[in-house]
Amino acid sequence: MVSYDEKHRYEIARQTMLNQHLASRDIHDARVLEAMGSVPREAFVPEKYASQSYDDNPLPIGLGQTISQPYMVAFMTQALKLTGNEEVLEIGTGSGYQTAILAELASKIYTIERFNQLGESAQAILGRLGYENIEFYIGDGSCGWPENKEFDRIIVTASVPEIPTPLTNQLKEGGLLAAPVGGPWSQELIVAEKKEGKVEPKILCGCRFVKLIGKHGFTE
Ligand code: SAH
Repeated sequence: MVSYDEKHRYEIARQTMLNQHLASRDIHDARVLEAMGSVPREAFVPEKYASQSYDDNPLPIGLGQTISQPYMVAFMTQALKLTGNEEVLEIGTGSGYQTAILAELASKIYTIERFNQLGESAQAILGRLGYENIEFYIGDGSCGWPENKEFDRIIVTASVPEIPTPLTNQLKEGGLLAAPVGGPWSQELIVAEKKEGKVEPKILCGCRFVKLIGKHGFTE
């Protein structure tokens, strides 16, 4: 159990993160700031790193994977221009933190994780926090959602050498996809809009994500 004092400390740290690392930089979508200010990141961080929950850094979550840096979560989410009615496909559930932010801002989230252990842990945490608008799937997200379905938004939170074709196929016309695209050690964060069946990527910034391992990603 988290004590009252601890909870209060985390709330202060979360506000500091919001002011220092997000609002004072280029995160200006009020809904994104509100979500980042309300989701308890400490719930998704392994206990031994709990005190660093609101530092603007990625942190290890086991199996060689990381919970993304808060600024990057906010930046990618902002790039998706969510209004509240969207169905979103997320590849790379990881800790589930980005999933929670999306669940605050869209109507339904479909999230895929490759590792059972991470997917199950994320599902348990998100369940405890009361989210009811998330579907979970364990498998290779580079192949898209296992059912025939189209999404308003797609977010890939692991790096890909190029945008996986099954994902562009599952993006609705006019929909947006955000992903880190490039080599295994550094990538460019792109946002792409689907127009006339094709995606047109726009580069937003440089970034560094763990690799997406899968049929349309990297090999191990
Ligand atoms: N958004 C997550 C980021 C986790 S790191 C967070 O902030 O916690 C990226 C995640 O993508 C890892 O958990 C990794 O296991 C997962 N991943 C890698 N390849 C994948 C694939 N082919 N399909 C689904 N998930 C994948």
